[in-house]
Amino acid sequence: MFGWIIIIGLGLLLFVFINRGLDSRREITADQFWTYVENGDLVGELVIKEDKIEGTLGANIQLRKGESHKFYVSYNYTAEENFDQRLREKLAKHPGVTHRYQQRAWWEALFPNLLVTVVIFFLIWFFLFRRIGSAAGGGGFLGGFGRSRHRLLNKETTSVTFDDVAGINEAKEEVGEVIEFLKNPRKFQRLGGRVPRGVLLIGEPGCGKTLLAKAIAGEADVPFFSISGSDFVEMFVGVGASRVRDLFKQAKDSSPCIIFLDEIDAVGRRRGVGFGGGGHDEREQTLNAILVEMDGFGSSDQVIVIAATNRMDVLDPALTRPGRFDRQISVPLPDLQGRYDILKIYAAKVKCGPDVDLHRVARGTPMFSGADLAALVNEAAIAATMQNKEYVEQEDMEEARDKVRWGRARKSRVVDETEKSITAYHEAGHALVQMLTEDADPLHKVSIIPRGPMGGATFSLPEKDRYIYTRRYCEAQLRVALGGRLAEELFCDDISSGAAADIAAATDLARKMVLDWGMSDRLGFVRYSGQQQNVMLPDLGNKEYSYKTAETIDTEIKAVIDRAYENTRKLLEENRTQMGNLAQALLKYETLDAQEAKQIIEGKAIDKPTMTDLLDREHAKSFPGELKAQAGVPDTPKADLPPLPEPG
Ligand code: ADP
Ligand code: ZN
Repeated sequence: MFGWIIIIGLGLLLFVFINRGLDSRREITADQFWTYVENGDLVGELVIKEDKIEGTLGANIQLRKGESHKFYVSYNYTAEENFDQRLREKLAKHPGVTHRYQQRAWWEALFPNLLVTVVIFFLIWFFLFRRIGSAAGGGGFLGGFGRSRHRLLNKETTSVTFDDVAGINEAKEEVGEVIEFLKNPRKFQRLGGRVPRGVLLIGEPGCGKTLLAKAIAGEADVPFFSISGSDFVEMFVGVGASRVRDLFKQAKDSSPCIIFLDEIDAVGRRRGVGFGGGGHDEREQTLNAILVEMDGFGSSDQVIVIAATNRMDVLDPALTRPGRFDRQISVPLPDLQGRYDILKIYAAKVKCGPDVDLHRVARGTPMFSGADLAALVNEAAIAATMQNKEYVEQEDMEEARDKVRWGRARKSRVVDETEKSITAYHEAGHALVQMLTEDADPLHKVSIIPRGPMGGATFSLPEKDRYIYTRRYCEAQLRVALGGRLAEELFCDDISSGAAADIAAATDLARKMVLDWGMSDRLGFVRYSGQQQNVMLPDLGNKEYSYKTAETIDTEIKAVIDRAYENTRKLLEENRTQMGNLAQALLKYETLDAQEAKQIIEGKAIDKPTMTDLLDREHAKSFPGELKAQAGVPDTPKADLPPLPEPG
């Protein structure tokens, strides 16, 4: 929209300049002018304007190359008495030359310069547009800008079906009736049932809300209109509402069809909340337009509006009223089985080797969204291709998973030796506690290769998704989290900021145990969190517990953590040798999987190239012929910030 204004503006400017170029009158002085008049060098007509005179010289006048016979002279004749008389007298001697006076046009008087005119015109247009945008929405020249920018994906392009969507079976089931309605509306009319016109899909980004909406369109074989809430909220106030009207009109014309409103929270925020209060008119108008349109559906309109959001809590209640988005379907992060199913879809599109174990990948990807999983398989395929492999192997999948989750491994980052050693002990601490604590998730792998902002990481491989946490599991998690810092304390002569994320995670967990889950003996079976405290007026009656209880809560949280801390300290002290071995092995190999770590703490040697071997090999590959002595010395300067705290 803004782009159009600029393009039109530039076009006009260009036009003006070209015009000036064509109008190649040469300026002459007043003296020259009178000489020409005197000598009868003029032909044609003299046009006398208020500030200048334009005329043409006869062909007998020799000019420099490229100069025009047309000329003008800046001459304010009104300032001169007897101008007309003088001119007439002189011209009378040379018949054939006529002259006429030309009044300035009113707009020339107003805007002596065409350029200024153009600029002013655009400014006026621009501001008018901001003001009356909504009023002009109905069509015509200005109204065209209100036309909604949705993309119409017709039947051919919406080839997505339910087979392309996995891991959200409940959601798929719930939208079944919508498809049925689009395919066969009569069926519902017969018994007088009312099919929801608005469906709200709620879920984290990347869980497949858009995909599901498209699949509904694909399954029902109807067109799919989509527009994003953030598209509505554009710079021109009032345009959003007209876009909504336009979109719905087009949709009704091609009913049956689906309208998909992505990021509905961008316009559908609860009214009257937010900072400042003012400036939300645009959003409100847009929201109102949506509501009005939805209320205005007749029984013959087979239009289903599907909206997506990940912020149910901020939505205006008006949106979820009956007849509007009264059907809410949650599109959650996929569970273990769901992740496996999604992986299967995407793995089928690439060539996988025999050792690829999608179950294992699914186990190692808790909290991954469908989009993450799709990206994972894609990354794995790219990595395998870069290594000229015949097919994707399990190791590519694992590496891709780490990359999607934590960012690319930064093997070339120079880590100084002390830093590396602290990281090794830190991670060895996590890993050892993880392995030796019965109730913790099994260890998956531990690594001190910097990744993203982190110095290293310990991964667990949960056997299942957890929907409830037992107290023992929570305590085990606490110990694993504390293992990193404790290892630093016990085995290095300093402690590091690397434990910050662990501390945050442990505190969080301990708080939940005490406040939400009733796992503290002293506080017992009472929930203390709940409603948010009023930050501005803490004493205004919404406090749920006394100051004394607040103190108890603090001590209880600390007690939970302290207990875990002592247990972990004991565990690590009893296993000093194993700790040492594990840390040394990490320094040597940088990454250990569960099997290898187990062998190490049992005191066995493992068969695996060390990091130096690997670097040599890689270096030899990229710089064949270079002296091997230089291998392994990374040439990247240490430009990175110090490693930030790492979770895990
Ligand atoms: P959302 O709209 O919820 O943010 P999208 O539908 O845009 O998420 O998902 C982005 C991409 O991730 C999809 O195009 C698809 O490739 C993949 N994806 C997400 N969820 C799933 C799923 N449940 N099954 C298959 N693919 C999925
Ligand atoms: Zn840690």
